[in-house]
Order: sequence, then C-alpha cells, then structure tokens
Amino acid sequence: MRVAIAGAGLAGLSCAKYLTDAGHTPIVLESRDVLGGLVAAWKDSDGDWYETGLHAFFGAYPNMLQLLKELGIEDRLQWKEHTLIFNQPDKPGTLSRFDVPDIPSPFNVIASILRNKDMLTWEQKIRFAVGLLPAVVRGQKYVEDMDKYSFLEWLKRQGVDERVTSDVFIAACKALTFINPDEVSATILLTALNRFLQERYGSKIAFLDGSPTERLCSPIVDYITERGGEVRLNAPLKEILLNTDGTVKGYLIRGLNGAEDEVITADVYVSAMSVDPLKVMLPKPWKLMEFFQKLEGLEGVPVINLHLWFDRKLTEIDHLLFSRSPLLSVYADMSNTCREYANPNRSMLELVLAPAKDWIAKSDEEIVAATLAELEKLFPNHFGGDNPATLLKSHVVKTPRSVYKATPGRQQYRPAQVTPIANFYLAGSYTMQRYLGSMEGAVLSGKLTAQAISEALPVANSSNLQTLTRPPATNAATA
Ligand SMILES: Cc1cc2nc3c(=O)[nH]c(=O)nc-3n(C[C@H](O)[C@H](O)[C@H](O)COP(=O)(O)OP(=O)(O)OC[C@H]3O[C@@H](n4cnc5c(N)ncnc54)[C@H](O)[C@@H]3O)c2cc1C
Repeated sequence: MRVAIAGAGLAGLSCAKYLTDAGHTPIVLESRDVLGGLVAAWKDSDGDWYETGLHAFFGAYPNMLQLLKELGIEDRLQWKEHTLIFNQPDKPGTLSRFDVPDIPSPFNVIASILRNKDMLTWEQKIRFAVGLLPAVVRGQKYVEDMDKYSFLEWLKRQGVDERVTSDVFIAACKALTFINPDEVSATILLTALNRFLQERYGSKIAFLDGSPTERLCSPIVDYITERGGEVRLNAPLKEILLNTDGTVKGYLIRGLNGAEDEVITADVYVSAMSVDPLKVMLPKPWKLMEFFQKLEGLEGVPVINLHLWFDRKLTEIDHLLFSRSPLLSVYADMSNTCREYANPNRSMLELVLAPAKDWIAKSDEEIVAATLAELEKLFPNHFGGDNPATLLKSHVVKTPRSVYKATPGRQQYRPAQVTPIANFYLAGSYTMQRYLGSMEGAVLSGKLTAQAISEALPVANSSNLQTLTRPPATNAATA
C-alpha cells in the first residue's frame, strides 16, 4: 500500500519506518528544507550546529531505544552518570545532586531523594513520598484522573508544602513542558515520576553524539528509502482533497519557487504535522465532526532555545543541568556532553528559555542579554571580576508553537491515531500515547499509526509484519 505522510518530524519518520517494515510504501512530505521538525538543526557559516531544542534522552524511552537499535545506531547515545543536577539559586555557582545508586527501582530513586541534603527537609521528603503513594499503588488510571488538577493543586491536596514546589518541581515542570507547576497538568509530572520510579534506569539521561538531523533523522530516511519509500523536503501540504464521501482523494502539495502545485495520491494518508498546522488544514466537512473539533482544545506552547559560544571553558560538567532560574529551564555545556560539538578549550552552552510567552516576541539581543544576566548567577566565577568570560557568538531559535501546552484537562482532547475517516490517520506527540509531548511520544505515536494501518490493511507475505503485530508489553502505549 502507498501511504502519504505529511510531516518529517520524528512521528512522521517513525511511522514511515514501521510502515516499510510491514511491507508498505510510504512517501513522506515535509514542508521545510530540513528534517526533524522540533528536533531540526542547522549548521552555521562556521560549521557549528544549532538546534531547535536541547534534547535529552531517558532510559525510560523504550520505543526510541528500540528504534535506534533497529537502525543499528544505539551507540550514538552518550549515556551520562545516573544523577539529576540542580543549580542552587541561593548559593550561586553551587550544585545539588540527586545521585541514583545502581540498585533496583524504586529504591534507587528513593535513595537518591533521601541522600540529597540540600533541597528538601526530612519532613518534606516524607510528605512527598506519602503524597506520591496513590500514583504508585493505583497506577496509570489514577495518574490520568489527576488531569483535572494542576500539579500545584495536586501537591497542595497531598499536603506537600510550597518549598518542595519551588525547590524541585518548578525545574521539572519547565523541563518537561515549558510551563510552571501552577499551569501544568498533574498527569504530566506523575507520569514521568511513575516511569522513573518503576524503571531502574528510567531517569538516566543520554545525549545524542551530534545533530539530531544528521545523527538521528538521516538514518531513518536511509532506512525508508533503501526499502522503496520516499522522503521529500520542500513539499508543503497545502490542502487535503476530499472524495464526495468525505474520505481523502489526495494531498495537494504547494509548488515552491514558481513550480506548479502537485497532487499526491495514495491508498492511505497520514498527518504527522503538529496540531496547530493540522487545525488550519482541516477540510470544512471534517470541522463539523466531534473528533476533529476536539483538536481546538490543543495548542502548541512557545519555547526558545539558545546557543552561546564563549572564549573559555565555564564548566567541565558533562550532564544536563536544571538551572532553577526564573528565566531559564535546563541547559548543558555541549562542548562536554556531545562528541560532535566537543571543544576542550571553549564552552558552548545550549539553554532552554521557558516559559517563553513573554519573550517570544522580543529581539534576539534582548533574549541573549537577559540570559547572560542569569549566567552571572550560575557561573559567578566567570562573569564577575576583572576578566569576565566573553561571548563569541550566539544563535537563538524561537518556536512560537512547539509541543501541545499540557494544562489540566488536555488529555480528553488528545486524539487517537485512528480517525473517523477511513483512509486518514494521525501521528504526532500530541496524539494519545502515554509518553506525552516528547521524542519518545513522537516515535511511539508513529509506530502506533503504522500498526493501525497495517492492521486495517495487512500486506500479504510481508516478512517483517511480525514487528508490528504488537509491541512488547513494556512498549505498549496503554500498558
Ligand atoms: C526546545 C525544545 C526542547 C525539547 N526537549 C526535549 C527533550 O529533552 N526530550 C524529549 O523527549 N523531547 C523534547 N522536546 C520535544 C520533542 O522535540 C517533540 O515532542 C517531538 O520532536 C515532536 O515530534 P513530532 O513529529 O510529533 O512533531 P514535529 O517535530 O512538530 O513534526 C511535525 C512536522 O510537520 C511538518 N509540517 C508542518 N506543517 C506541514 C505541512 N503543511 N506540510 C508538510 N509538513 C508540515 C513540520 O515542519 C515538522 O517537520 C523538546 C522540544 C523543544 C522545542
């Protein structure tokens, strides 16, 4: 079967990969001139990479890890020490660590919390542990039910005091969703905590060894094209053309640079665009259907990713850091964490600015200036005194609508991959799967879409169909 997929983010590429495994022929149509969507990256005129987002991979990403294995590129993940590292705003330049010992879960994570003396008192630790019990004992159903509360409301209901929120969870919420605990759905944090508590290496972090576009997306494209599929850049979907019965007749692709528009036809069609462009693209008759109307409840959240190159080394830390700054979320010195960006003499900090709604319209100069002011608190030794570090260059990448904004009540609006239109499916990290708006969620959603298509339209004699019949229990979206 020929399957046309709009969008070459991780969801679209994963969908195409698993469709080829099942004997189908995907054609992926990407509007931009770069692969990867929210993981896209570019090389500047000096040959330095800059990215849409600083991306951390977790041990609790079974579908991503499985995909890398299937592509034979799992060695491209550079695993870091099993620890979470936080800056301490009240002691500028110092760090607090949650070192996770190599013992079975959940004891490893519990031990890391108990052993941290900087960020939580004993009373807070015990209150939080008790508060978390229902999520651990009652499982995913309880976690889903908590979508009606913000994480802050949930913490209050569990009797966990305000300091815990300000100390640990503002950083965690900003890192996971680019918004604060008073805005984020409790389901998000509880889902992540549950994964970290249930999997021994769930909270272990890895970085890719180079740009996601080259090191992650390109091998998926090679895999697809070597097996007869196609991936086309600069091929924006302009309109979804319908048959009289409301099913899809074709994808109208906008011709660029004076070229004619082109109609692509297939047996099945997938949208792997993010939710915001999909909403704009919906054909009129579909807008009357409840399934598609629900998409109005979802919207991408703004976020900004910065890259700052300095004239010296600011730190030797080879890990993700939670800044605990009101302006910034997580950051890393990519000259330490990523093989292709390595530099023994100079730091390149990659930093996520979130929440970004008040910053997204500001100039790059304003954003860099505000970030440098924050760095004075994170690296006081390098920015005070007679010989402060000099910024050599910077890149700012703004994404006004990134992953769906995970406020309370959003779960009910996240659509299934299977739609009421017989030959039209959805993929994307915003669609319903257990890994939320993440790379893992995107990969899983694409896999689920491919699986649903293969179940609806099995290909006879497909040697690889087996890989799609059911993911192993640990990979199952609804397990
Ligand atoms: C700053 C930042 C940091 C992040 N950090 C992490 C992290 O540390 N860990 C993690 O797991 N996740 C992280 N994420 C989230 C992760 O990147 C996303 O969840 C995931 O990449 C989404 O993939 P997707 O394929 O669902 O959507 P997208 O990546 O948005 O892909 C959609 C694709 O559709 C294309 N498209 C849109 N309109 C059209 C059209 N008309 N025609 C054809 N194509 C179209 C787009 O160009 C895009 O390529 C981060 C995201 C950002 C922005």
